[in-house]
Amino acid sequence: MNPTKSQCPYCGVGCGLEVQPPAIPGKATNRDSRGNPIWQVRGDRAHPSSLGKVCVKGATVAESLDKNRLKYPMMRDSLDDKFRRVTWDEALDKIVNRIQTVRFTQGPDSICMYGSGQFQTEDYYVAQKLIKGALGTNNFDANSRLCMSSAVSAYIKSFGADGPPCSYNDLEETDFAFLIGTNTAECHPIIFNRLRVYHKKNKKVKMVVVDPRRTKTAEAADLHLAIKPGTDIDLLNGIAHLLMRWGYLDTVFMDECTAGFSEYAEVIEHYPPELVARKCGIRLDDLETVARWWGESGRVLSMWSMGINQSREGTGKARSLINLHLMTGNIGKPGAGPFSLTGQPNAMGGREAGGLAHILPGYRLVSNPQHRVEVEQFWGLKPGQISPYRGRSAWEMITGLETGEVGLLWIAATNPAVSMPDLERTKAALRKSPFTICQDAYFPTETANYAHVLLPAAQWGEKTGTMTNSERVVTLCEAFREPLRQAKPDWEIFAEVGRRLGFKEMFDFADSEAVRAELIELTRDRPCDMTGITYDRLREKGPIQWPCRDSNPDVSEERLYTNLQFHTADGRARFGAYHAKGLAELPEKDYPFVLTTGRLYGHWHTMTRTGRIDKIRKLHPEPFIEIHPRDAEKLGVEEGNLVIVRSRRGMARFPAKITKAITPGTVFVPMHWGALWANFAEANALTHPESCPESLQPELKACAVQLVPFTIEGLAEVEESDRVLVSN
Ligand code: SF4
Repeated sequence: MNPTKSQCPYCGVGCGLEVQPPAIPGKATNRDSRGNPIWQVRGDRAHPSSLGKVCVKGATVAESLDKNRLKYPMMRDSLDDKFRRVTWDEALDKIVNRIQTVRFTQGPDSICMYGSGQFQTEDYYVAQKLIKGALGTNNFDANSRLCMSSAVSAYIKSFGADGPPCSYNDLEETDFAFLIGTNTAECHPIIFNRLRVYHKKNKKVKMVVVDPRRTKTAEAADLHLAIKPGTDIDLLNGIAHLLMRWGYLDTVFMDECTAGFSEYAEVIEHYPPELVARKCGIRLDDLETVARWWGESGRVLSMWSMGINQSREGTGKARSLINLHLMTGNIGKPGAGPFSLTGQPNAMGGREAGGLAHILPGYRLVSNPQHRVEVEQFWGLKPGQISPYRGRSAWEMITGLETGEVGLLWIAATNPAVSMPDLERTKAALRKSPFTICQDAYFPTETANYAHVLLPAAQWGEKTGTMTNSERVVTLCEAFREPLRQAKPDWEIFAEVGRRLGFKEMFDFADSEAVRAELIELTRDRPCDMTGITYDRLREKGPIQWPCRDSNPDVSEERLYTNLQFHTADGRARFGAYHAKGLAELPEKDYPFVLTTGRLYGHWHTMTRTGRIDKIRKLHPEPFIEIHPRDAEKLGVEEGNLVIVRSRRGMARFPAKITKAITPGTVFVPMHWGALWANFAEANALTHPESCPESLQPELKACAVQLVPFTIEGLAEVEESDRVLVSN
């Protein structure tokens, strides 16, 4: 029996999987630790992105298929009531009724949808058509806003269009890998293994990792720069300063293919190496070594993820990194380029389909009148139906609930009651929501507590659709089983609501193949042209990288910008000049530590799937806080002691893990655990929502905290100071 081909539904590496049923004639049935039969999953050797490799998440994904599933629609009138089971008709009637009421009383901009990089591209597309097209509001945002919207913003501003320009093959063709703000070894393990093997074999190839923690990624590097949190732009401008001082500039490339250097040159003048080394807390000779390696390498590949993006200056950080590539001509050739590694499995598909509040399908912008007209005409809408205003970002949906401007919130395939910043404030806003729909494959989740209607979604393997990974490779993920009980694919739910709202023709899709056929037409002649990537061709050829045009479907572009023409009006890439601002919340007397948050190898996001997989729970049984031995000694904390961590917004407590992997003055907490999985261990109870003004991505990576050993006296002290804080 031929296995079903798919893509792993966890991270943006997008490894290929092959799936077979639990029972295959003549073979032993695969079973979980409780003896239940489970589908058999292995890496797809024919997948170009992963060549048959998978990590523990991909290998165990089938174990989550039947656990804690939402099986049928449920409703309740108020959050104090219990859910009651209802039919799909009752649930959809209620939703349509409510949408119409809000639309005509408060206006369409009071309706919001918060979606997910777990969507397939077809789900994303139909959601855009419903919210931005039929309803006429751009209030669709996705959890990608919290993950990589700074990368989107940086690519658009530097190159004139979004889209990571590199391919995974560049990992094995580079002379110098510069990783900043990314724990690739744990968060994107399969591509990191590729880089690690290549690096080990090729002694001349250098690898630098910039991270305040000595992560597993940092351990593999030739040089680890443990910069102080928030000093990334100082470092990048300092490297640029040295590249300029030492004459490592590709002046031909800069003259012919870029603009804006003189303003940038004025900025980097202010970042001499002595000052930068001091501000970053690193050695001067290490800074010089990195600049020299960058300048002397013919092919430089940089990689980044949340450590750069989740910052109030996330766009500035990513653009400052891109600037180094523009100075040295490191783009559009093998082994070189600025490579944003996406977190979610289909954050890239979301970008293609217009799945953020400021974009439209086909890498178009809400703010561009021509782009709006193109989409309106394609969708058969009246002129002006698509709003010229960007919609609410994820965090602005929360503040809209606080002010009463949001009258209906539809959350799908994501868990904001764990992943949003300032969680107590988020939860209070969700409690105020007049009407919240929560559409998910799983139940319970932390967010379901705040829903009025629960809609059961089909999950990975129960619907056919496409996903795009970080290197722009599109994989067809075929359904290999029926949706559980009454669950339906997300796109079908959105289409049914569209039809019930009266937009019958707009949402008359026979199947997901028809949805993709429509979407790819909207990418024609756009930077992400996917007209050559149909279901038929994906079934025939396997995964395909875009751009891939139907005029020449056997040709994909492995790298963008090989012709050194960018998507700006004059074809030139833009330097972005940014001074460092540092952290939004600096440590001070009452909150003397910087808390940084991150992910672990085995767990995914808010553990909705991985929390139910025995092997992964054994791997990471409980949350923890990493503290440097010197800080632990001052606090009187020993390994395993509970520590109360408090910020200006909330409190949590974790067992201490004392390690030199973290620098003194900084502590680390994993972001995965929500209220379902541990008591008082929510990292985001502590974080703040201050965001990058260009990307609207919150600074989830850092905030100021105080630590108190968990003793009865310590707890009393914390409670007393909380009381004073509240009464003030
Ligand atoms: S590296 Fe990412 S995509 Fe690949 S198997 Fe692991 S979680 Fe899945």
